[in-house]
Amino acid sequence: MRKTVGVMSGKGGVGKSTAAVNLAVHLSRKGWNTGLLDIDIHGPSIPAMLALSSSRALQDSRGIHPLLYRSMKVMSIGFLLPDKDDALIWRGPLKMKAIEQMVNHTVWGDLDMLVIDAPPGTGDEALSVCQLINDIIGMIIVTTPQNISEIDVRKSITFCRALDIPVLGLLNNMASFACPSCGTSTELFPSGAAKNISNDMQVPILGSLPFDPDIAGSSDQGIPFVEQNIPSANLMKDIMNTIEEKIV
Ligand code: ADP
Repeated sequence: MRKTVGVMSGKGGVGKSTAAVNLAVHLSRKGWNTGLLDIDIHGPSIPAMLALSSSRALQDSRGIHPLLYRSMKVMSIGFLLPDKDDALIWRGPLKMKAIEQMVNHTVWGDLDMLVIDAPPGTGDEALSVCQLINDIIGMIIVTTPQNISEIDVRKSITFCRALDIPVLGLLNNMASFACPSCGTSTELFPSGAAKNISNDMQVPILGSLPFDPDIAGSSDQGIPFVEQNIPSANLMKDIMNTIEEKIV
């Protein structure tokens, strides 16, 4: 039976999709039959992160067929829009219908693992996703270490607990920056938000990633950075192995 893991964040732009895509690719490269479902309905960035922006999903009487990135199956709201530059301007009920279509009508076949890139925040859309996908065995919460994120991350944890979804841990993204000239590592936001949350709410920190221009550059080229020969890829693989141990 497939294991479904969600990736969520308190707000946008913290690296949630980057984490989801690289987790799914990592699991797939380790031999698990993996699917990646991008339900970040207003900002589906996964097609671009896998160089699949121009692809559209085939729909037939069996349902909506995922696209392939190597052997990994990928579905995104971005594959259902007429053009990659189109924005989703649907109102509530239509949005919920689109989420329901992707969740219930994607033809995944047999999967070992399904990674969900959930909408940011704890609003209606995130709630619909978590209620429709009722087999989520754990949630990874991506955060950056500013104080301002702390409030949102606490809300995300409370949200998961209210829905009985176990929180696997926090991924502390953009935690530091290594100077390319001298190598000195500087904490970008010295607030230690992840540590505070971890202590107060009894949630483990899965690991930290630096702010790394190679991560951003790799995403922009449509290559998941875990496939690159860069130090951050090794850090990410350690984090992903920790997650894998928790879900297998
Ligand atoms: P979200 O899904 O939370 O909105 P994304 O995963 O789309 O965030 O990331 C936002 C931007 O930040 C992307 O351009 C991505 O490549 C970049 N990014 C994410 N994590 C890092 C990092 N650790 N270092 C540098 N850039 C990053």
